[in-house]
Amino acid sequence: MEAARMEDAQATPQGEICYDFSEDELNALAEAEDALTKSDNEPYMLVNDWQRYINSWAVRKGWWDPDKVDSAPKIAGRNTIELAALVGTEASEAVEAARMGWMETFIDEHGKPQGYFSELADAVIRIMDVFNMADQSLEREIELKMAYNEKRPVRHGGKLA
Ligand SMILES: [Mg+2]
Repeated sequence: MEAARMEDAQATPQGEICYDFSEDELNALAEAEDALTKSDNEPYMLVNDWQRYINSWAVRKGWWDPDKVDSAPKIAGRNTIELAALVGTEASEAVEAARMGWMETFIDEHGKPQGYFSELADAVIRIMDVFNMADQSLEREIELKMAYNEKRPVRHGGKLA
């Protein structure tokens, strides 16, 4: 491991720019590198350096401020970001089902419905649950969105996908 790192270090002279960063980004990286403890044998940022630098950047930008970490809006005490992310996991499960070719719903050995449309139904189930808990009307939101969508140009003005 150490031998491989030395080999890489020799192949990449100190100061060589290997990434397509802007000048501001390069200056920030240089400052971050200066702040890191390095030996002469480690003239460029290794993965662990990047890990520490990225985390220090995130801390400096306030993403780990303990007073604000849990500041996302809540619905009945649950984080709205978590609730939206869980809808996304169902979409991901639908993607995986499609990759398996499970386009017809089937009941697995545990009695659980499986398949592409079953997973999309899971997403709708999660959405309906959140709407009702938040005392919001899904029907109203669909009406508003579709009224707007009807006014949009074909393929929303030429989008490819
Ligand atoms: Mg699911």
